[in-house]
Amino acid sequence: MCGIFGIYPHKDAAHLACLGLYALQHRGEESSGIITRNGKKVHLHKALGLVSDVFDEKIIRSLRGELAVGHVRYSTTGSSNIKNTQPFYVRAKIGDIAIAHNGNLINTLSLHRELENKGALFQTSMDSEIIAHLLAHSQNKDFKDTIIWSLSKLEGAYSLVLMLNDILIGARDSFGWRPLCLGKLDEAYVLASETCALDLIGAKYIRDIQPGEIVFIKKDGLESIKPFKKTHHAFCIFEYIYFARPDSNIFEHNVYMTRKRLGAQLAIEFPVEADLVMPIPDSGTYAALGFSEASKIPFEYGMIRNHYIGRTFIQPSQVLRDFHVRIKLNPLKEVLDGKRVMLIEDSIVRGTTSRIRVKTLRLAGAKLIHMRVSCPPLKFPCFYGIDFPTKKELIASKHDIEWVRDFIGADSLEYLSLEGMLNSMPLPKEHFCTACFTGDYPATPSSRVSKTILEK
Ligand code: SF4
Repeated sequence: MCGIFGIYPHKDAAHLACLGLYALQHRGEESSGIITRNGKKVHLHKALGLVSDVFDEKIIRSLRGELAVGHVRYSTTGSSNIKNTQPFYVRAKIGDIAIAHNGNLINTLSLHRELENKGALFQTSMDSEIIAHLLAHSQNKDFKDTIIWSLSKLEGAYSLVLMLNDILIGARDSFGWRPLCLGKLDEAYVLASETCALDLIGAKYIRDIQPGEIVFIKKDGLESIKPFKKTHHAFCIFEYIYFARPDSNIFEHNVYMTRKRLGAQLAIEFPVEADLVMPIPDSGTYAALGFSEASKIPFEYGMIRNHYIGRTFIQPSQVLRDFHVRIKLNPLKEVLDGKRVMLIEDSIVRGTTSRIRVKTLRLAGAKLIHMRVSCPPLKFPCFYGIDFPTKKELIASKHDIEWVRDFIGADSLEYLSLEGMLNSMPLPKEHFCTACFTGDYPATPSSRVSKTILEK
C-alpha cells in the first residue's frame, strides 16, 4: 500500500512529483518523500505525514534537478517511523541509488541473511532496503546487468521507481501484482502507480509498464527490456475492488466502470425489495451506483462523509475507534427514516466498522437494512502489499455468513460470488490474484514463514 512516482527530464521535476504524490495520497498517508538529482548533487526531503504536511513551496524549490522520484507510504513491512520513509537513498560504489517501492517481497528473510553475511548493515526494517543492498553488492560492471541481477534475486511483489545516478528506472515484477504506468509530459517521461497522477500533471498516458519489464529513462530517451522468464499474471484484484482511485485506469482498464459492474452483478445475484440503495461512502459508492442502475432502486446518500477529519489523532482504544468511525460519516435521517435500505459495502475486513454503520443507520430510523458486499468473503491474509490483518482477525475466515450478519446486525447479508467478481473484471480471470478470497497464492514465502502467517 504505497504510491510511487518518477519524472525525468523536466525542469519542474520536484513540483510535478509533489503534485503526482497528491494524486496518489490514497495509497499511503503515513509518510511522503521526494528525492531529486541535480548534476552530481542529490536533494532529499521526506517525513512522516501527508504530502500537504511534508512539503511547502520553499522545500519544493530546494529540491533542484530534472530527475525526481517520489513516494507515499503505508507501512506493510517495517514499522511506521522516520527511518522507514521512502525514497530510500544510499550512496554506493555504483553511485547514487534511490528507491521507491510498492509491494511486498516474500523472500526478505533469506535475502537479509545472505546480505548480512556479506557485511551489509541494515538501517531500516523495510523490505525495500534489501533492493538497495543488492544493487550495492552486485559484482556487475554494467548498470543494466546490475539492475537485472538485483531484481532477479527478488521474489514477491514489486513495482519500483529507482534513481541510479542520472537514470530513472521503472520496473514491475513478473506477476504484475501492483500497477505502474508510463506517461509523457513535454519531453519528460513519467512513471506513476496510477493514471490519476498523470491526469493531474497533464501528462499523456502511454502504456502500462508490463509485468517483468524494466525501463531505463535517460536524458536522450527510453529503453525497455524484459529479461525475466515469463510467468502467468497475478494482478491484484483488490486494487479494482477497493484500493485504486476510481478515476484511474489500472492494468489498462478503468476502476470506476469496473466497480459499477461489480454492483450490477450483486443486484443480479441477490435481488431484494428496498426503498433505496446507499453506499458506505466513498469506496462503496460506485458499486452502489451499479446496483441501483441494475435493480432500478433509487440511489441515495444515506450518510454524508466528513472530508476534514485528516489524520487520525485519536488513540486506538476500541471506544475511541468507534467514535472515529462515527465522526467520518453522519447519517441523513430525512432519507433513512422508515425506509428499507440496501446498503452497499466494498468489502468487510474485521466487521467492526460495518457493525457501527448498521447501528448508526438504525438509530437514524432505517426500518430494514440489507447489506451487500461487492466482493466475496475475505478469508486469507495478503503477502503482496495490502495490509489485511492476520487470518484470525479477518471475520470471514472463522465465521460463516449468518454469523457475520448477526454480528453486524443487518437484516440480510450477501457477498458477491467469486465467479461474479471475476466476470465483472475487464480482463480474463487468469490475469488476477484472488488469494485473499481463495487461499490460492500465486507465490508463497518459505513454507515456514507462510505457515506461521497463515496460522495466525
Ligand atoms: S492476496 Fe488479495 S489483496 Fe493481496 S495481491 Fe492478491 S488479490 Fe490483492
